Amino acid sequence: MSFMNFLRKNVFDPLYCHYTRSPRRSYWRELEKSQFLTEKELQDRQQEKLKRLVEFAGKENAFYSQRFEKAGFSTGRPWTLDDFKRIPVLTKKEIRENSARMISNGYDIDRLMHFKTGGSTGKSLDIYITEECSELRNACARRHDRWTGWEVGEPIAAVWGNPQLPTTLKERIKDTLLGPVIYLDTMCVNNASVTAFVREWEAVKPTLLFGHAHSIFLLARYLRQLKIEHLRPKGILSTSMMLLPHERQYIEDVFQVKVTDRYGCEEVSLIGCECEEHQGMHLNTDHLFVEFLNEDGTASGVGEAGNLVITDLINYAMPFVRYRVEDVGVPSGRKCSCGRGFPLMEQVVGRIADFLVKPDGSRVAGISLIENTLTKYKGLDQMQIVQTSYEEFIIRVVPGNGFNNDIKEDLSVFMKEIFGSNIKVNYEVLTSILPEESGKYRFTVCKVINE
Ligand SMILES: [Zn+2]
Repeated sequence: MSFMNFLRKNVFDPLYCHYTRSPRRSYWRELEKSQFLTEKELQDRQQEKLKRLVEFAGKENAFYSQRFEKAGFSTGRPWTLDDFKRIPVLTKKEIRENSARMISNGYDIDRLMHFKTGGSTGKSLDIYITEECSELRNACARRHDRWTGWEVGEPIAAVWGNPQLPTTLKERIKDTLLGPVIYLDTMCVNNASVTAFVREWEAVKPTLLFGHAHSIFLLARYLRQLKIEHLRPKGILSTSMMLLPHERQYIEDVFQVKVTDRYGCEEVSLIGCECEEHQGMHLNTDHLFVEFLNEDGTASGVGEAGNLVITDLINYAMPFVRYRVEDVGVPSGRKCSCGRGFPLMEQVVGRIADFLVKPDGSRVAGISLIENTLTKYKGLDQMQIVQTSYEEFIIRVVPGNGFNNDIKEDLSVFMKEIFGSNIKVNYEVLTSILPEESGKYRFTVCKVINE
């Protein structure tokens, strides 16, 4: 570890957490120890947290107290997990219609952190959490980041869409002292941007490569084409979309290191992550209660694909109880040889994002387009971008409250900035965008090249 990395980990990070009164560092240290508790101990802790959260929601949250009552579930007397499973599954639509009502008593909506999700489904949700909850999530992510081989304080390379770069001197100093991040912008991946990224890599020496699975794969392909063979991170973290087996193999060949696959969503943060043994994803039972359900609501068996339904154990401001993420996962009955007590999930099926393509051959990550459009406008409930040729696009929109034609204008300007001024953008205004036959929604569809 370089001296600067050592200082970041052992001096600047503690100072920053102390100065900002963030629980991140102390909680992280706790999580580092608790990960090796037995399965039974972890399960007991999880049940305790579930009980506390559900009791709280039943008492202090108008949305849930009504919901529980309707379902014949009462928190006033002792209840079992079977009773809990009578609570109806929470859909994205319900969240969209009730987000303000879902805020618990004692929390001022104006003082909460607010974010709008785009996610893999192309539907947007308003999510509220406390700053503390956000820091607990960061602490947990840090523990899991270390499973890749990366260490706190070491620089990171991210392949990401429209990254928020530090602009002021203060931001740049903070970035340098706490953890420098270099970016390859997935809104524009081509020979020139990859070459510039490699030069920055040589200067900053990141030890972790982080990004959407397919973005990392594209980077790997460019590197091979450009005959660049010396980028050797300690770990690669693939997140936010399905890691296809052939892409994983290709990435591992190019970087000569294992890929760590992670799955999460903005609503509840980290759901599952591979450890250094790569034998499946460990479920984040410290923060979540995860169920795998068949369409009829019964639990799907080990090795069977089921709808992921999640209860967030640490978000008290806007509780998520039995939330259907709209992803499908496969619970595992295997044990991981690392010795950690978290249960394993085999894989998440059906999160393949399509990349769109520019006339010069460079690719644009669909997820990045969605992150930079859908999440910015209050009047957009759902959208899907279909590229029918290099110059022609159809944007399907489902209008929400506050939708107006200016949004369409804005979207066209945005698309032209990325794909060139001569493109044609047509709109289809719909009442809903239907999922694929598999049940998965796609937010971008590329009909130009499909590979
Ligand atoms: Zn493990």
